[in-house]
Amino acid sequence: MSLAPPAKSTILVVDDIPDNLHLLTRELTDHGYETRAVLTGEMALTVAQSAAIDLILLDIMLPDMDGYAVCQALKENSATQDIPVIFVSALDDPFDKVKAFDVGGVDYLSKPVKMVEVIARINTQLSLRHAQQKLQLFNQNLEALVQQRTQELAQTNQALQAEIQVRQRAEQDLRLSEARYRLIANHMGDLVCLHNQDGDFLYISPSVQSLLGYRPDELQGKRLQDFCHPDDLPCLQLHFQESFQRAESITSAYRLRNQAGGYVWIETLAKAIMDEGEPITGIVTSSRDVTRRVNVERKLRYEALHDALTHLPNRDWLAKRLEMEILQCRRQLGRQFGLLMLDLDRFKAVNDSLGHLIGDKLLIAVAERLRATVRKVDMLSRWGGDEFIIFVEQVNHIDELVQVAEAINQALESPMEVDGKIIFTTASIGVLLGGANYGTSNEIFRDVDIALYRAKEQGRNRYEIFGLEMYQEALSLLTLENELREAIKNEAFVVYYQPIIDIKTRTLIGFEALTRWQHPLRGLIMPGGFIDLAEDSGLIKPIGKQILYQVCHTIAEWERLGYLEAWLQISINVSGQQFRDHNFIETLDHILIETGVKGTRLKLEITERILLEQSDSIARTLDAIHQRGITLSIDDFGTGYSSLRYLSQFSVETLKIDRSFVMQLQPGKSGIVQAIIDLAHNLEMDCIAEGVETEDQLHQLQRLGCEAAQGYLFAKPMPPDQAVQYLQSAPPTLETLLSQLS
Ligand code: C2E
Ligand code: CA
Ligand code: CA
Repeated sequence: MSLAPPAKSTILVVDDIPDNLHLLTRELTDHGYETRAVLTGEMALTVAQSAAIDLILLDIMLPDMDGYAVCQALKENSATQDIPVIFVSALDDPFDKVKAFDVGGVDYLSKPVKMVEVIARINTQLSLRHAQQKLQLFNQNLEALVQQRTQELAQTNQALQAEIQVRQRAEQDLRLSEARYRLIANHMGDLVCLHNQDGDFLYISPSVQSLLGYRPDELQGKRLQDFCHPDDLPCLQLHFQESFQRAESITSAYRLRNQAGGYVWIETLAKAIMDEGEPITGIVTSSRDVTRRVNVERKLRYEALHDALTHLPNRDWLAKRLEMEILQCRRQLGRQFGLLMLDLDRFKAVNDSLGHLIGDKLLIAVAERLRATVRKVDMLSRWGGDEFIIFVEQVNHIDELVQVAEAINQALESPMEVDGKIIFTTASIGVLLGGANYGTSNEIFRDVDIALYRAKEQGRNRYEIFGLEMYQEALSLLTLENELREAIKNEAFVVYYQPIIDIKTRTLIGFEALTRWQHPLRGLIMPGGFIDLAEDSGLIKPIGKQILYQVCHTIAEWERLGYLEAWLQISINVSGQQFRDHNFIETLDHILIETGVKGTRLKLEITERILLEQSDSIARTLDAIHQRGITLSIDDFGTGYSSLRYLSQFSVETLKIDRSFVMQLQPGKSGIVQAIIDLAHNLEMDCIAEGVETEDQLHQLQRLGCEAAQGYLFAKPMPPDQAVQYLQSAPPTLETLLSQLS
């Protein structure tokens, strides 16, 4: 730091003598100073305040005030107090040095002044002042720095204090939460453990005692694997491995051996212990006893996939297996599989006659037999009711399936003994060879069902192999079924009437009502084209009801117009399903009341099979029918399972001899027709021969004592308006003549 004064300092010279002033200022200017010169004390004070003055040379003796007063005034003003003042006194002036220093002067000079001295004194004072100023500045800076540092230190200190507080609080929290966790772990029902990578127990919560019976210290140093059920070991190991590789928790279930030596199903949630960026150091597991739940689940799963009666796989399981097989077939070129769907023939009869209990036992026995004929790799399942399905894996040729079908038929050949009863069963089987051509299990079931249906239709106790043409037939049958539903809605059925003739008198005794379907596109469809379908689909009931209503309505109309003699009877065909319907009698009554037709006007044609069922409800229906004066015929007699016993049991008025027997009649060869007529007469029934086409047949029937006949020989079935004409043109009967006479 240089103490030399700045080059251009400004000196204020105060002197009341202008010559002095002039001399001094010139000298000073020559020495490089700026100067200001004033004559009075007042002016000196004014200039010192307003201009930047570095030093004042002050005369003691001034006109307005003395130099002491001026100096004192300068020192009292903060703007001027730092300006060094050098007093200048004449030798003869009374100069008080002490006073000069007291009022703030820094030096003094005596007149006449030596310029060298003046300059030296001025320089000294200026340097001093300059040094003072610098020191002051330095001090100021230092103070500012110290203040700043002190402030910074205080801030740092404050931050540190805050951090310490946070840490202390965190530490406290940590201690608290650890204590809480320990409390939870110690009192939790779940078992909480800590394991290292090898499965060693590092920590075991006390709940292990209630869960597995061990004390925690007994497990120290052991591994989880040591307690796992051998079957579940792979699952456990996988679980551990995965837990070490993933951040999420993973659940799994396995069995652990308890202290008693039994096994407990445990569900465990495992989570790897991971500190950010650190490698996984261990696994925390939380486990609970889920034995009950697992058992329930297993039971449910078993029930979901098994048939409760036979314990065979059920249709859901089979469907799943088939879906898998479909995928296999798509992957493996040429791969084929087989399906055999079998249905016990006449199982319903067993159920109806021997009861459901025996029926169930029979199903179990059949399942056993089937199981013995099926390979281990194949799957025997129960489809429901009396239907079973066998899935055959990897089939090369249809012959292999035929062999299975034949083996099944053979296996069922010998009778079953159920509860001491001997039961013969046979089965109809649908066979299907499938492959990549199938997309869903439902398609497979649909097709094998078509084949089964065909087997049943073809006469049971046989198998049929599914072919594409069957599918197409089934498809068109389906269309027909839908059209049939439409037909019911639109009441598109018409009834034709075929005369029935008394053979002896050759007069009309009644009509048989025969239904036709007025199809919008295909015209009139004969019963052969839709009755079977109507029966299979259950649509025969609404159709039968419509027909019954229509026929009664026609009868009422004919009666009202006087066309119908009192003894004429109208025969109506009633299907088994209709007859078995619990509402049948109710429907019948309703129609009779609404149309006003008397029961005696009607004759119902039923098949033998209905009577064979021998159920109480059938007996009740038969009773109810007789109570209403309605008579019964047995249609197509001799074509079914004729049994003499049922014929004598129920009161049936008429047997209808099927056309197939009438056709067999030859001169001199009456065959079965004779037997039927004799049987009917023995049971006090009369006979109507169907399908009489020739005079020869008629003669022979007359000779055999047959009472009545219908057939093309007399008339074909005809629509109602023609039947009316027929009624009107028919020759009067004996009864008519007699009634006209009386
Ligand atoms: P079905 O009860 O045996 O009726 C006699 C069938 O033989 C009628 O055939 C009739 O037209 C035909 N027929 C009559 N005389 C002769 C003949 O001299 N020669 C030949 N070749 N045939 C003759 P349709 O009308 O085709 O009826 C067929 C079957 O449909 C009926 O057989 C009956 O079982 C059933 N059916 C008809 N209408 C109904 C009905 O309304 N309800 C029920 N459930 N079945 C009906
Ligand atoms: Ca008939
Ligand atoms: Ca018939």
